[in-house]
Amino acid sequence: MRKGKYTKTQKPDGWGTSTRLVRGGTSRSEHGETSEAIYLTSGYVYDDPESAEQRFAGEEEGFVYGRYGNPTVAMLEERFRLLEGAEAAYAVASGMAAAWGALACLLKSGDHIVASKDLFGSNYQIITNILPRWGVTHTLVSGTTAADWRAAMRPETKVVFLETPSNPILAVHDIEMISDIAHKSGALVIIDNVFATPILQKPMTMGADIVFYSNTKHTDGQGRVFGGMVLSSTQFKEELLKPFLRHTGPTLSPFNAWVLLKGMETLKLRVDASSKSATLLADEIARLPQIERVYYPHHDSHPQVALARKQMSAGGTMLSFDVNGGKEAAFNLLRRLKIVDISNNLGDSKSLITHPATTTHKNIGPEARALMGIKDGCLRLSVGLEDVEDLLGDIKQALLINS
Ligand SMILES: *Cc1c(COP(=O)(O)O)cnc(C)c1O
Repeated sequence: MRKGKYTKTQKPDGWGTSTRLVRGGTSRSEHGETSEAIYLTSGYVYDDPESAEQRFAGEEEGFVYGRYGNPTVAMLEERFRLLEGAEAAYAVASGMAAAWGALACLLKSGDHIVASKDLFGSNYQIITNILPRWGVTHTLVSGTTAADWRAAMRPETKVVFLETPSNPILAVHDIEMISDIAHKSGALVIIDNVFATPILQKPMTMGADIVFYSNTKHTDGQGRVFGGMVLSSTQFKEELLKPFLRHTGPTLSPFNAWVLLKGMETLKLRVDASSKSATLLADEIARLPQIERVYYPHHDSHPQVALARKQMSAGGTMLSFDVNGGKEAAFNLLRRLKIVDISNNLGDSKSLITHPATTTHKNIGPEARALMGIKDGCLRLSVGLEDVEDLLGDIKQALLINS
């Protein structure tokens, strides 16, 4: 990208995470603006026909069309690439455009996917409903042992796909072990790292090949815009992802890219604060007699707590729990909340709560819900930035506890 004269010679490789989040990728124009500029343009002009010819031939640096690239979007990609420590980053319009792009650019008829059974609703639809129409088959793994994953692999397995922690029951899978198994069979590992966030978990350092995000969640973190990001090797981006995404159109708006750049500046502060509150809430909620069980990666009751503590530097912003009394008791709790909002969005500065069985995981049906262990009394809480005492008080009063 062309650099304005006000852009300092950056040496981001030595920078810590917070510096990368605030300054990474900044490319100032000739005006020397402090905040990154929004280049709200669909096309670009050329000084002469030769310049247009050379840009299309890739011989001259520069943008040619908004669907192919944009300076504001490029700043976001570079900032995110530095955060993840990946070779390459590609920004798209939503988290699902990222999931779909990473899978569809790679797979062809006859290929096979191995995925954990613990999947976000739309990931589940892509793997079990959409890709089978293109002749791509799948095996969903229920267990967590090496033998469970090995047994699912086939010679035609091209991709191993997992979410860890998963939505909504925060199941944790061993990225290093599963990557090892996948690589021995020549398959690539794709991780949905939305729940963990790039602040708390770095799948590529554990062997993952491709990591994707919904930037709609923690990256924006203030409920405003959609966005997605795919992190990969340069080779994967240049040879597979870019040719696929350029021509199929899930382009990120430059305006949304700008909002996300601003979100990144406070991402670590927000994730660390929410994660701290969620850890405290998990402890407190687990003690309440009205609660059957909590699901939180760093809580002692989590079946994979040792692995979660190894893979994630903190427990994360997401917490689920089963209310005694099933759907009716869960709905009663939701109805009485005075601060926490009922919403299926997550990763927001406002705490949000949802009943997965009737919202995010309704369409997959009761059998798939049973397979994933999602009960009718389950509530999923996205912990925001409010005072933790207020959040605990709100949940307690909604359970009719006088404290
Ligand atoms: C929200 C979400 C997605 C999809 O992201 P969108 O931006 O809504 O398309 C994918 N995976 C997980 C775990 C999510 O929570």
